[in-house]
Amino acid sequence: MEPGLEKLRDEVFRRNPGESEFHQAVTEVFEALGPVVNRHPEYVESGILRRMCEPERQIIFRVPWVDDNGHVQINRGFRVEFNSALGPYKGGLRFHPSVYLGIIKFLGFEQIFKNALTGMPIGGGKGGSDFNPAGRTDAEIMRFCQSFMTELYRHIGEYTDVPAGDIGVGTREIGYLFGQYKRITNRFESGVLTGKGMSWGGSLVRPEATGYGAVMFADQMLRTRGASMDGQTVLVSGSGNVALNAIAKSQQLGATVLTASDSSGYVVDEDGIDLELLRQVKEVRRGRIAEYAEERGGRSRFVADGCVWDVPGTVAIPSATQNELDDKSALTLIDNGLVALAEGANMPCTQKATEHMIHAGVLFGPGKAANAGGVATSALEMQQNASRDTWSFEYTHDKLEQIMTDLHDRCLETADRYGTPGNYVVGANIAGFVKVADAMLAQGVI
Ligand code: GLU
Repeated sequence: MEPGLEKLRDEVFRRNPGESEFHQAVTEVFEALGPVVNRHPEYVESGILRRMCEPERQIIFRVPWVDDNGHVQINRGFRVEFNSALGPYKGGLRFHPSVYLGIIKFLGFEQIFKNALTGMPIGGGKGGSDFNPAGRTDAEIMRFCQSFMTELYRHIGEYTDVPAGDIGVGTREIGYLFGQYKRITNRFESGVLTGKGMSWGGSLVRPEATGYGAVMFADQMLRTRGASMDGQTVLVSGSGNVALNAIAKSQQLGATVLTASDSSGYVVDEDGIDLELLRQVKEVRRGRIAEYAEERGGRSRFVADGCVWDVPGTVAIPSATQNELDDKSALTLIDNGLVALAEGANMPCTQKATEHMIHAGVLFGPGKAANAGGVATSALEMQQNASRDTWSFEYTHDKLEQIMTDLHDRCLETADRYGTPGNYVVGANIAGFVKVADAMLAQGVI
């Protein structure tokens, strides 16, 4: 790392103690920025980078709610409004017991550059709660969402901050959040949240967009080597929204998907994952992944507590959560002949894993590029809301495809320009950073 950047990184670590995921996200960006600060020392001298690491606003609030047994529960809510140089803060809400400020800040920091890369006018932010939705009834989820929005509403708005989903927050939760926002404000302000249902301001393709986009990105990377997704054997981790749609798009493009996982283990299916069955188990029944293998039979099996990355494959789409793929798994995948990896989740690969992949010549699409299709389609949803229009599936899908292609090309071209051809990590970080930095410079000391 450049000495100037190293000093700055140490300062960020000192000012944000104990937030290891945020430290990791900052380190990844700083590692990649060496070539750009060498050429343009003004980015460091003007304090742009230091400013970027300090969120514009951080909101932490109490979320009290009553469970089905009449007991009062208390959770902590967060919204980190990180950067609004390019547009209103934009980014999802995560409901998961692991959530604390360090997770929200890592996600918000990533979101700044990801959103810049989409080419859409959106700033970066993220929020969520340490609420654990597992095992909660629908009524409990609703009461929690209503209480969460009772505080959040005063901080958001179509021109201010536009939340969406992330882990633990899907169309159901967005519905409860939107309903409460509407009651409190007495406004049908569809542009205040994205990921809405189709009959009340949602966009077609938004549910599919993150997973679809990640596979489109993998396909683009493979095309630089004269290959494509067609005929690949694909390893997907996770079984939430991103994973299911990554499986769908991989299959549409002619690949065989072998795996999916959840926190209890993984399934491997030598005949290719039966997506309809997996959706039935995970989306409809909200069950455990073992049920997939029990019902599918044949050449499928459930492996409890195993590591999904032990399965050989040519393309990996990690779509579960941060740091799910470590250096040991990276080496196993490389030994087993991995050709490409696109991060469907946010920061699923540890820093060492990423280094191994790049060193071994694996085509590596970092999350802020590869999973940007979700937020890009959120921006398309905002466009439709602003013009009170609804677009067809095909039209929206074509737009997503174009965005992913442009984004891929911009990363590649930037990596080339800065002397690291084929390195998408460098390309994505520099391209995202320069766009935000230039906007901040133009807007004065903000
Ligand atoms: N949570 C998603 C992400 O990580 C989507 C955010 C959005 O649509 O605003 O990019």
